[in-house]
Amino acid sequence: MLNSSTALRSRAWVDVDLQALKRNLLRVRDAAGAGTSVVPMVKADAYGLGAARIWPALAEALAPDGPWGLGVAALVEGEALRRDGWTGRVVVFSPLPPGELTRAAAAGLAPCFSDLHALRAWAELAAETGRRLPFQLEVDTGMGRAGLPWSEAAAWGAEVVRIGGDLLVWEGCYTHFHSADEPDLAPTVEQWRRFREALVQLPPEENGAPRRLLHCANSAATWRCGFDADLVRPGIFLYGGRAGPDTEPEAVAALRARIALVREVPPGTTVGYGATYAASGPERWGTLAIGYGDGLPRRLATAGGEALVHGRRVPMIGRISMDVTVVDLTGVPEAADGDVATLIGRDGAEEITVDEVASRCGTISYEILTGLGTRLPRVYSTGPARGAAD
Ligand SMILES: *Cc1c(COP(=O)(O)O)cnc(C)c1O
Repeated sequence: MLNSSTALRSRAWVDVDLQALKRNLLRVRDAAGAGTSVVPMVKADAYGLGAARIWPALAEALAPDGPWGLGVAALVEGEALRRDGWTGRVVVFSPLPPGELTRAAAAGLAPCFSDLHALRAWAELAAETGRRLPFQLEVDTGMGRAGLPWSEAAAWGAEVVRIGGDLLVWEGCYTHFHSADEPDLAPTVEQWRRFREALVQLPPEENGAPRRLLHCANSAATWRCGFDADLVRPGIFLYGGRAGPDTEPEAVAALRARIALVREVPPGTTVGYGATYAASGPERWGTLAIGYGDGLPRRLATAGGEALVHGRRVPMIGRISMDVTVVDLTGVPEAADGDVATLIGRDGAEEITVDEVASRCGTISYEILTGLGTRLPRVYSTGPARGAAD
């Protein structure tokens, strides 16, 4: 097929299946149940897949109402959503450095606060601008990186109400689980207990004030816990990463590269920095146009990394370079220059999942996806899933 995606698929790229993304979102929404709204997390450029194209697809999947809001981690991500035309709520979940509050107010973002000092600064901005500004409050129940302490809610709760006064709108209260994807859910249940214990200490909403929305679930907790809350905040599951031992999303991203060069090599030929691999007999090697400079983890090759070529698994040999990776194509005699190799994704009956790559590298799917480099065009498909072949 000759279209604009052909040019994008000339070297190495990421295929993004927007239909699979939407199906994953609808599965999460159904798991969350009626009466619970979804706040898709699109931080880190939608887990590396390109927020500018991801959020419209997510909004379309939840039409006509759309998502309750979108979740980001940084001011610049919220500002980008505004530039791209998203007019709904944007919640910035990571604590904003103090110097960013003015811009957050200008962009109409809702920060999450973990300390009263920052909340006071937000209230002052509201007074200056003459607009009631929204915010959320994080309760720390064990994550330890942000949030007000759960056990002291009676003290800070009253103070939050006093600071907010008529200047701020307290939209929600949440906590974040540290182990919802672990086999043992006891720590998560304990965090939920602490969260609820904090909530009952908070002053009730004033008459006429909107109810503060409660939320706690990431992807894993949405699937596995079923805690009763107003919102859920899924991320990784939408993008095709597993969220705990028993939840299988549809793959969304595929990482592909062209075979730039195929060579027959005599026994003893070495490959890559350090010459860590030598051909044991006559072999056929393929040089893939992708390296760690594209986000392919360098340690993958020494951890049994493989690629799919013509639907078959082939081993990476030697070390991954910044720009290229060599595979042994001896077992795939029909492989030729220009053919597509799949580093993550499906080719024929074979599939390499992002979780497989992550576990080989001793990390998590999140790090693999968010590490995909800017040299890789993201190629979006809205039709049936595209294979490795042209
Ligand atoms: C990233 C994030 C999520 C989403 O977590 P996943 O494990 O990707 O589903 C939810 N809530 C907060 C506060 C986050 O930072």
